[in-house]
Amino acid sequence: MRTGIMGGTFDPIHYGHLLAAEEARRILNLERLIFVPTGDPPHKANSRVTPSEDRYAMTLLATAGVLEYSVSRTEIDRKESSYTVDTLREFVHSGINPDELFFITGLDAMLSITSWFEFEKIPELCTLVTARRPGYPVDGIERLPKFIRDDLKYIEIPQFAISSTEIRERVRQNKGIRFLVPHLVEIYIMSNNLYKT
Ligand code: ATP
Ligand code: MG
Repeated sequence: MRTGIMGGTFDPIHYGHLLAAEEARRILNLERLIFVPTGDPPHKANSRVTPSEDRYAMTLLATAGVLEYSVSRTEIDRKESSYTVDTLREFVHSGINPDELFFITGLDAMLSITSWFEFEKIPELCTLVTARRPGYPVDGIERLPKFIRDDLKYIEIPQFAISSTEIRERVRQNKGIRFLVPHLVEIYIMSNNLYKT
């Protein structure tokens, strides 16, 4: 079953993520798409990342009702630090053929792949898919190791220039975020007073 994985902090999930994931699904003919929010960072006390349960809830709200989409708790429930390579291993061990497993990232994320834990193992586990993203250099791919570039599928998607950082900043400044995130995500942020401080 052709499966796309979209990992992220999703703090909060926004239409840039959803559009990239949906375009990857369409272009690569994926039968399902699994969103994987990251777990809480190990040093939680001084972390500025919103608790994983809130990020998970928002990801659920954003994807609910889309037949091909689901949200995985695998990184949130993992006790130790959670790494992409472990997540991909889990999916492969659960029976997904690596030839049918696609890990979707924005270009900015892809350019930092050499800093990911055991990144050399990743191409054996999946095909890397990179969506071009506005505001980030389109060059840099050529500096990645050849075995990564050989595994990489590069897709052009409509550009939606928004980041979670900008959304958090807009909430802090009392600017609206309507049409930047799904309506239920907006409601969740407001009812739980997220990003105010
Ligand atoms: P932050 O501003 O906090 O870094 P973010 O918007 O970059 O948040 P992440 O959760 O860090 O979101 O990103 C998850 C994945 O989504 C990454 O692979 C990232 O490259 C990709 N991504 C983020 N924003 C967009 C966008 N507007 N269009 C396409 N891909 C995006
Ligand atoms: Mg980011």
